Amino acid sequence: QSSPKPPPSPSPLRNSKFFQSNMRILISGGAGFIGSHLVDKLMENEKNEVIVADNYFTGSKDNLKKWIGHPRFELIRHDVTEPLLIEVDQIYHLACPASPIFYKYNPVKTIKTNVIGTLNMLGLAKRVGARILLTSTSEVYGDPLIHPQPESYWGNVNPIGVRSCYDEGKRVAETLMFDYHRQHGIGQFYFPRFIEILSRLLFLTLFSVEIRIARIFNTYGPRMNIDDGRVVSNFIAQALRGEALTVQKPGTQTRSFCYVSDMVEGLMRLMEGDETGPINIGNPGEFTMVELAETVKELINPSIKIKMVENTPDDPRQRKPDITKAKEVLGWEPKVKLREGLPLMEEDFRQRLGVPKK
Ligand code: NAD
Ligand code: UDP
Ligand code: UDP
Repeated sequence: QSSPKPPPSPSPLRNSKFFQSNMRILISGGAGFIGSHLVDKLMENEKNEVIVADNYFTGSKDNLKKWIGHPRFELIRHDVTEPLLIEVDQIYHLACPASPIFYKYNPVKTIKTNVIGTLNMLGLAKRVGARILLTSTSEVYGDPLIHPQPESYWGNVNPIGVRSCYDEGKRVAETLMFDYHRQHGIGQFYFPRFIEILSRLLFLTLFSVEIRIARIFNTYGPRMNIDDGRVVSNFIAQALRGEALTVQKPGTQTRSFCYVSDMVEGLMRLMEGDETGPINIGNPGEFTMVELAETVKELINPSIKIKMVENTPDDPRQRKPDITKAKEVLGWEPKVKLREGLPLMEEDFRQRLGVPKK
């Protein structure tokens, strides 16, 4: 192994294209599903030093085992509801359970994670002049009355339901992001572009909070928790274990599934680009849950049964991202189709469940 390089000293100007050099990047929630794939991608760039802060509620060290001990990588057991004093250039703020089973398990904690956790990450971003990206969610649209959902849609969310800790938590997190940006930022709304560039050069960036907001739609891929209760992981695990696929009623509800490598690419483009967002990042390919079950059955285990089971309250009936904005401002669109992504996830689940392919 090569000897460790001296750590770069953080500076807000390093986010600017003129001054880009080594980057120290914090990923809160980096031990989770999406976060660990993001770590893999960011570590490919030798100029990046990556720090993960995670409380291991739904994530695990296992997801990061190949990086533990690497000179450019650091893992901190930390709960984002507590303050964090470190020096970084960029923050990918992912910390928050994403599966309904886990975010409903302790709803008050979920709200604290979204609100106090995001406040702390913003306080950190403000103090060190780091750019911060929030992974918000399509759940901010609730049970949408507009289809597909553009970023301009304000949503249809139950404020007092069992999903509200997550949906409303993320909505407040988005509000906090914009309030920090407007209150502590140079603010694209108030200043013409040339004054912004001039003020950057005059070090006024020191007082600004640069934000990015991604609205992530359902994402799947290797390393999802096997028993985390989300539909793709449930169906694949059930198919491999020889259990019936549990379609929650009515089964006509739709989701649009994005493969994790596409998601990571979208998040990194958003972080590096000039657009604050919010921007939808997801795959517009839309499927009913019955169609998803039939696809999993056909690809993994044609002898398996599909059974209808009771649903949970407030389940959104349809969800499909309008990704016009992502295409235009990030030059991004997903590449991996559901039928290509499912076998990649199947391979990972086979290994972890010890079910070899016959
Ligand atoms: P995940 O549950 O696998 O990862 C979340 C990570 O955050 C875990 O490692 C967990 O231990 C950590 N965490 C939770 N609470 C924490 C706290 N208080 N302090 C520190 N760490 C904490 O979920 P994921 O699918 O990787 O989702 C990552 C992010 O993307 C989340 O913010 C989620 O809301 C968002 N998102 C995901 C999806 C999806 O389909 N996967 C969809 C929309 C939004
Ligand atoms: N914070 C943090 N790390 C820092 C700076 C701040 O965790 O490097 C936390 C801080 O504890 C506070 C929150 O971020 O709870 C918001 O900080 P800010 O400075 O914006 O607000 P204030 O401390 O003035 O309430
Ligand atoms: N679902 C299902 N069977 C399962 C788990 C979930 O039919 O075993 C359905 C659920 O009712 C919802 C959709 O799959 O309509 C997506 O649920 P998930 O929990 O994966 O994510 P959500 O988009 O609701 O956050």
